[in-house]
Parts: sequence; C-alpha cells; structure tokens
Amino acid sequence: MKLLLIEDEPRIVEFVVHGLAAAGFMVQHAGDGERGLALARERTHAAIVLDAMLPKLDGFDVLRQLRQEGIATPVIILSAKVDLPYRLLGFETGADDYLAKPFFMEELIARIKALLGRRTSNPSQLLQVGELSLNLVSRKAQWHDLSAALSPREFSLLEYLMQSPGHIFSRKKILSHVWGIDFDPETNVVDVCVQRLKRKLSRSNDVSLLPIESVRGVGYRIRTEPA
Ligand code: CA
Repeated sequence: MKLLLIEDEPRIVEFVVHGLAAAGFMVQHAGDGERGLALARERTHAAIVLDAMLPKLDGFDVLRQLRQEGIATPVIILSAKVDLPYRLLGFETGADDYLAKPFFMEELIARIKALLGRRTSNPSQLLQVGELSLNLVSRKAQWHDLSAALSPREFSLLEYLMQSPGHIFSRKKILSHVWGIDFDPETNVVDVCVQRLKRKLSRSNDVSLLPIESVRGVGYRIRTEPA
C-alpha cells in the first residue's frame, strides 16, 4: 500500500515517513506542492497526506486541482491552523480528513487506516464498467455470468484499471501501483497477470471479448466501447 506525503518540513517528513514505514506503508515524498501534484496525478497512491502550507503551490490548491481533474485519492490534510473556517475550507475543497499539527503518529496511522477501510467496507461498493464488475469486499470479478475469485495482485490490477475506464495505464505505472516497483526491471509480470485475469474470466479460448485492452507499446486500459 503506497502513500504520498506532501510536506516541506524536514523534521515532520522524517517523523512521518519513519512512522508510516513502521506501520507497513510504503511512502513516497514530495517537498513542495508542484512536485506533490505531479506525483498525485500518477494515481498510484492509496491515500495522500497533505500539508496545508507548502512552497510553490499551497496544499489547498493542490487538493482543488486534484479534485478538478477527477482524481479521487483519499486526502488527509495536516495543518497547524485548527480554526473551524480552515478545517471547513479543507473539507469543502475535497479533503477526506483533517489532522491538526502537532499530532501523534498513532492518530495519523489510525486515521489513514480508517480512510482506506471506509473505501472497501461498504458492501454495496461495486466497481462496474459495462458487463464487467468488481466486488471490492469479496474481491470477486464478474464478467457476464462468469464469476472468478482473484489473487491480491489480480484484484489490485483490475481495480486500478477499472477506476478510470478508457484511461491507458503504462506498465510502469501499473508496476508501481500494484507491485510497488518504482524502477523498470524489464519484467513481464504485468502482462502475465493480465493474461491470467483474462483466462479466469473467459469460458472459451477467446479472451479477446473481455474489455481489458492492450495498447501496443503503451500499456493497458479498460475498453469502454465494444471491441
Ligand atoms: Ca509546511
């Protein structure tokens, strides 16, 4: 599970990265708002911990921009400003949670876990693209009348693609999001995983009907139009 920390104060960065790593999260860090926004646009993070006061681009501007672009990654704002108007502004801008500085690491971790849990604990939560659906609780995929239990990687990959139907995800991005691999080791695990998914959701040898489309030389996407 990879998190993005956008924070400029070295002391807090060290404290938070260390604490989140100890809790089992992978953490990517950005030291200013512009860099943070660029990383968040890659859509590879389970949640974003966002400082309000940042160089180059303010935390609220980062959040506003993300939400305008339809990026729904859960965001928890960290801010020394605890007055109600600031907190309300955070929620109005699209924050999912707000934590006042100084804070206890245990509380930040608990809040992040609550945010991540909330996304998958609602039994009605089903990702659906045409005839393809993914149950976020049982982690089963259904394609027409065929249902299949998925491995954690298969689930994570399909969930990632289905969150933005039509969007082409590069192998590099998929590797980063699903496997946590941030370099390009020339591995074909992504292709192998997609093939496995296709076979699981296909009754015959014809796997071309499933709307996972390989875009030559670029990556994969969920097709929104019939093939
Ligand atoms: Ca700051």
